[in-house]
Amino acid sequence: MDGSCRPISQFVLKVHSRCDLSCDHCYVYQHADQTWRGRPARMPPATVRAAALRIGEHARDHGLPVVHVVLHGGEPLLLGAAGLREVLAELRTTITEWTRLDLRMQTNGVLLDEELCRLLVEYDVRVGVSFDGDRAANDRHRVFAHGGSSHDHVRRALALLRRPEHRASYAGILCTIDVRNDPDRVYEALLAESPPRVDLLLPHATWDDPPRRPGPDPTPYADWLGRIHRRWVDDGRSMSIRMFEALRPGGGGTEAFGLAPADVLVVEADGSWEQVDSLKTAYHGAAGTGFDVFDHPVDEVAEHPGVAVRQDGVDGLCATCRSCPVVDRCGGGLYAHRWRTGSGFDNPSVYCPDLLRLIDTVDAYPPPAPPASGEWSATSPVDVVLDDLATGHGSASTLAVLAATQLSITRALLVAARDRSATPAAWELLVHLDRVAPEAVRAVLAHPFVRPWLVHRLDPSAPPGPAVDPLPALAVAAALRAGVPTVLPVPVRADTITLPTLGSLVLPGLGRSAEVTVRPGEVQVRGGSVARTVLLDPLASPSTGWFPTRDVPVPGGRLLLEDGDPYRDCYGQPVESRLEVPVARALGRTLAAAWQVVHRDVPAHAAALDGGLRAVVPLAPDPARPLRSATARHAFGAVAVAPHADPETMAVLLVHEWQHAKLGAVLDLYDLVEPGQDGRIRVPWRPDPRPPEGVLQGVYAHLAVTQVWQSRAAHDQGDASAHAAHFLGWTRDGVDALLASRSLTPAGERFVGQLRHTLEETRVGSR
Ligand code: SF4
Ligand code: SF4
Repeated sequence: MDGSCRPISQFVLKVHSRCDLSCDHCYVYQHADQTWRGRPARMPPATVRAAALRIGEHARDHGLPVVHVVLHGGEPLLLGAAGLREVLAELRTTITEWTRLDLRMQTNGVLLDEELCRLLVEYDVRVGVSFDGDRAANDRHRVFAHGGSSHDHVRRALALLRRPEHRASYAGILCTIDVRNDPDRVYEALLAESPPRVDLLLPHATWDDPPRRPGPDPTPYADWLGRIHRRWVDDGRSMSIRMFEALRPGGGGTEAFGLAPADVLVVEADGSWEQVDSLKTAYHGAAGTGFDVFDHPVDEVAEHPGVAVRQDGVDGLCATCRSCPVVDRCGGGLYAHRWRTGSGFDNPSVYCPDLLRLIDTVDAYPPPAPPASGEWSATSPVDVVLDDLATGHGSASTLAVLAATQLSITRALLVAARDRSATPAAWELLVHLDRVAPEAVRAVLAHPFVRPWLVHRLDPSAPPGPAVDPLPALAVAAALRAGVPTVLPVPVRADTITLPTLGSLVLPGLGRSAEVTVRPGEVQVRGGSVARTVLLDPLASPSTGWFPTRDVPVPGGRLLLEDGDPYRDCYGQPVESRLEVPVARALGRTLAAAWQVVHRDVPAHAAALDGGLRAVVPLAPDPARPLRSATARHAFGAVAVAPHADPETMAVLLVHEWQHAKLGAVLDLYDLVEPGQDGRIRVPWRPDPRPPEGVLQGVYAHLAVTQVWQSRAAHDQGDASAHAAHFLGWTRDGVDALLASRSLTPAGERFVGQLRHTLEETRVGSR
């Protein structure tokens, strides 16, 4: 051994592999990995000794000044006082020969008594207790096998640890959150136990087995934790909450956050070396290394690929995380939470939207001190995204981040919709396809009108409309894209089955549900009075019942002309029904020409358009308002326009609406306006005072339109200068009104301040 590999300084010893509680969220017994079943209940003394020797040797070879050893389980107190003393004595004697030993224990506390407390103090063991908050919260999961409450037992243990003679052994509380619990009551219950430190844990989940999301809120975990964060800050941070401290800029991270190399190994009760415990949530055997303490030194285990990849910092993350502005603080979240069958750990965290929003929450409250000088300085990665967008357009990499987070939100909603789906086979098929053909699933889920469909399905207050279960149609669309044969029952709405990104089957007499058999290039449909095989020909005639989507070649790829998806009707104004072929062709030609105009006039905006705009929805014509256009907050990737024959005009509409879409995606992640603001602001482009978010949207769109007209003015195009001055004035007045309104969050102040900076440059450029 040459001591050249990266040393490991933290070790978890599973000294007892069984437990006296039966928590239904336990990753040891209730998740994918079931290796505990084949292991001894107690770690035999010879195994404890072998582990202690390995750890001691490792500390010696690497000159480690300290190693941290955590006694874990199952439940380590099941060893009893005598068994525990044996283990503690062995570890203290063997390891302290070579280095300082920081001894810790994680327990459910049920068996803790005075004798055990004295023992823990004697051996200087710091104890963390698992406790999920008030009685309702704790007993939602942390119960005995007979279903009885553990709440009083755990509180008694915490009271014992608080006693002055035991206090030195009280390390803190580990609380697994559940968004169904009341965050205020959980916070108060934790505070009442005077813990030196609280660890808040997101429930273990993967992309295969995603976290519970009870409604359409795309970031329930961030919102729940944000509430606790606010209480904590208001209370003067009266206890240490590791998650919030770790997520602050320079907070140092934890196993769950940040880019620090993985520095922990586990010794199972049979002496096996394993990777971090949380991997047990991914799949059976996920944490295994094939090594054990009898035959393999720590250095050899540290070179195991599963351990080594987590020591690569940002290089070990997926492409989305690598380009994420908060990667140095999030670090892709807990390694186990990235798992998806097929792509393995090469994914963002399944909590990605929550993590982004939570970091924003930590940054935004309380407001950071204003910069000392008048200069703006990018102090947070969140600022990097906002500053980039404040140039008026935003780079391709910022667009990629926005698109990726929007996709994550859609995936989160899909999981919530799974819980209401009557077709479990559809979910199973989607999971299977996500493994064997992830691009097909991604293409379907990124379709702009999937999220509106899911939101409508999940929102009980949504206006009446087509709320059929989306999962079967999404699964069929993905199977068709992947060329994977399947059979599924699919709900029918108005004789129509909509297959997002592909088209619609319109078969009169189909009934309320149809059996759809997918074969390469065709489907067989049986339902109501219909039994028909339909060839999915892109040039099909309407008589076949197949209405394929229409797309238009544009410089950024292909643009969908969406006139068939029922969920395109989300713009608050009438959408055009299916276009006649000549009309669709004419609109397609105008859009393609308009796209070229955007490339000619404002290449930076064109790059942002290429990076994200996938679909255009034709609005129904209104002779009184021929220049209408719109975006919908839930339909990222699409804009709606009233057909117009002039590409120059259409180019302005596209740029204008794409600004709204980008800003909407930002507002899904970051609060730019203080929540609860009900003030109104007067702006020159509307007769009625507008809410601050509406003004922000208007300002951002008008800035882009100003840039288009300025570019045209530079080429002496007619009255372009007058238009540029007109929109510049509107934008400047809107920016000033917003900054004077005191309605913005610190991030919002920064963003709008940067917009003003961009305007100043724009003004100089226009002279
Ligand atoms: S106390 Fe811990 S080890 Fe025991 S069942 Fe609950 S979560 Fe699992
Ligand atoms: S993309 Fe998501 S998971 Fe990855 S670093 Fe950013 S916030 Fe974290």
